[in-house]
Amino acid sequence: MQGIYVHIPFCHRKCGYCDFNSYAGLDTLVEPFVDALHREIEQSPYAGERFDTVFFGGGTPTYLSGEALASILEHLTCRFAIAPNAEITCEANPGSVSLAQLRLLRQAGFNRLSFGVQSFHLDELQRMDRIHTPAEVLQSVAWAREAGFENLNLDLIFALPQQTLERWEASVRQAIALQPEHLSLYALMLEPNTRFYHLYQKGQLRLPDEEVQVAMFRLAQQLTAEAGYHQYEISNYAKPGYECQHNMIYWRNEPYLGFGPGAVSYMEGRRWTNIKHPREYIRRIHAGEPLELEWERLTGWDSVAETLMLGLRMVDGVDLHALEQRFGLPVHQHYAPVIAQLIARGWLEQHGTTIRLTQEGLLWHSEVALAFFEK
Ligand code: SF4
Repeated sequence: MQGIYVHIPFCHRKCGYCDFNSYAGLDTLVEPFVDALHREIEQSPYAGERFDTVFFGGGTPTYLSGEALASILEHLTCRFAIAPNAEITCEANPGSVSLAQLRLLRQAGFNRLSFGVQSFHLDELQRMDRIHTPAEVLQSVAWAREAGFENLNLDLIFALPQQTLERWEASVRQAIALQPEHLSLYALMLEPNTRFYHLYQKGQLRLPDEEVQVAMFRLAQQLTAEAGYHQYEISNYAKPGYECQHNMIYWRNEPYLGFGPGAVSYMEGRRWTNIKHPREYIRRIHAGEPLELEWERLTGWDSVAETLMLGLRMVDGVDLHALEQRFGLPVHQHYAPVIAQLIARGWLEQHGTTIRLTQEGLLWHSEVALAFFEK
């Protein structure tokens, strides 16, 4: 499988925890950006290639009008062989959608919406600098259904400042009550250069203890399981058949083509990142200059380690035999001591040729990944 990612870098306001390539206050760049994006699509050397998923992320894609988003998708459809049953997702922020816009998106061919809900408590949303209210989430989900979307994801974040287990439980229950097909339940990450990070450095951000964070993760697992979702990745839960196909491409380390500022592509073993700032992105497109900020070619054991790192995020784990076939390397033999060590620690289990994280290991994915990289 291979996917297309389109990055829309605009937001109404920068959230306190966010280090994504997103910007507030760049309204004057929206039109030139859409024009530049069309040009980048037009110039792609991969015209005619088949893609199985399309994902518009950001930033806030719904910062753009429905017409602009529809025209970009239409251009992609003309330029590439998008599979007839392709999963086509648009990320949306509950405070930035309208029924008319969602109708337009559905008619244009988008068939999945991913809402950045994050919490159902107004004070938590405000602490994060989110622009929406819990009532707007309910409204947006209702509009999405009315517009004909049958595949919805809701994102929530746990381990928020001052969050208690009870408040996290209320948010998860509320999300489940809306009956989305998919839930992404992430732990807060403190990223450098964010407002949260600076507050934390100054001792002004009170985060739940590690013990409580683990309890939040376990509670999410329990509540989603009771409601008929299965956990298929560390942070992702789906009703049967609604696993996010686009993200599965990343976790399987399969090819993807990115458009827009800061978008990453991984095609034919080569990975590159576009220039990040939208202004420079637009300038380069007009000047006919390359968009690439950096690139690397992954080969041999680096590719294997990366495929293992990503693949082990999935609850079903990784088939070592399939990896050996894919990379032509003695994967099992090479990693046997690491695997034995991780099994002894209780973080990994092996069934036939498949390795996967244990329930305990799901909490230690970064350490497990490091062990494979250090081999
Ligand atoms: S809406 Fe999303 S991308 Fe935009 S600033 Fe907030 S977290 Fe970042």
